[in-house]
Amino acid sequence: LPRIVARSDHSLSRRNISRAALTVMKRLQDGGFQAYIVGGGVRDLLLGGHPKDFDVATDATPEEAKKLFRGSRIVGRRFRILHARIGREIIEVTTFRGHHSEGEEHEARQSEHGMLLRDNVYGDLESDAVRRDFTVNALYYTTDGFEIHDYTGGMRDIEQRQIRMIGDPATRYKEDPVRMLRAVRFAAKLDFDIEEKTAAPLGELAPLLRNIAPARLFDEVLKLLMSGHGERTFELMERYHLWHHLFPDNAALLEQPEARELTRLALRNTDQRIRNDKRVTPAFLYAALLWPAVRAEQERVAGAGTPPIPALAQAAQKVTGSQLAHTAIPKRFSIPMREIWDLQLRLPQRGGNRAQRLSEHTRFRAAYDFLLLREECGEIQPGLGQWWTEFQQADGEERQQMVRKLQ
Ligand code: ATP
Ligand code: MG
Repeated sequence: LPRIVARSDHSLSRRNISRAALTVMKRLQDGGFQAYIVGGGVRDLLLGGHPKDFDVATDATPEEAKKLFRGSRIVGRRFRILHARIGREIIEVTTFRGHHSEGEEHEARQSEHGMLLRDNVYGDLESDAVRRDFTVNALYYTTDGFEIHDYTGGMRDIEQRQIRMIGDPATRYKEDPVRMLRAVRFAAKLDFDIEEKTAAPLGELAPLLRNIAPARLFDEVLKLLMSGHGERTFELMERYHLWHHLFPDNAALLEQPEARELTRLALRNTDQRIRNDKRVTPAFLYAALLWPAVRAEQERVAGAGTPPIPALAQAAQKVTGSQLAHTAIPKRFSIPMREIWDLQLRLPQRGGNRAQRLSEHTRFRAAYDFLLLREECGEIQPGLGQWWTEFQQADGEERQQMVRKLQ
């Protein structure tokens, strides 16, 4: 396999790389350093896509690189990188990582379970390549010769459309369990298969996700479910036994057809909205993922004699609390999520001027969309959603008539 792919043998062109990233490469090269675009930028361009950003890898240390970019900052502890500022853009500049050896505890550390706690030992391009996760993420492109450097067989895997872990998959998942989610994320996004040996340890090692901070998992969930391929990601996460580790309360109810359908519809809706450049929020998605559990718990509490509204509040509290142990939900999302749930009990009550007031609620639109999903998945009889659709289209006079007709 060629390690260096010449300009004439690949389709990548400098024209498709952002001006800021080109500037960063040029300045590093002028400073006497190597500079490459690596990761998603190269991968997505080779596949004809539009990378969302470009990361640069270099043999300059963060301190050396910092001197070349005014207003740049070194960030991260576990993994130090430079944020180089070019105009309004920030380009991540990463120093080549190297192999760990004895006596470097300060720069590199592993937990007793093999998890990487710190990775700040520097090396060269080849050692950097083998420390990346998947072969398709370890391709390096430079404007110094316009070549692609491929030390792991990434070009072949791009052609064969597969996600392959570099090195021994189980060891690499233990170093960083989030790589399990990344495998599925890239497979869904690129419509690639996960190569057999890369997929094999997933089920067994999935419980390691419990060692990951809920805040990091929340960030990962957004990338998994809110990047336009959520429905496919959900299917793959189920297939590889990852779903129930992130959303146990949802997973436990997926045997109920309505719960499964609601999950699917919410993800499909989110995917469609992203395709149409419409706003999406984790509040709505989490509301849907947790709703079946909230409903079940509400029924249980109500069965013991509590009225519906406090029963829902109690159920919401319990289910949200249990989800927090798995993925964080920042308050700015959990509050609107609970408002969407609360409004489900209020949407049927339209008498007097209640309908008018409800329609002016900040969360009305999300709650109405949510109601439509509940009808579509078969949880409740259709009808109320249609009424609200008409109400929104009606003028003042017609609205009063609609309300009068309810009595
Ligand atoms: P995206 O399109 O989602 O940005 P990406 O491939 O650029 O995809 P990033 O999370 O931005 O993904 O990471 C950039 C690169 O850093 C990856 O392509 C990979 O080479 C490396 N990388 C990131 N996270 C890990 C990890 N957990 N383990 C090993 N390598 C990683
Ligand atoms: Mg990236």
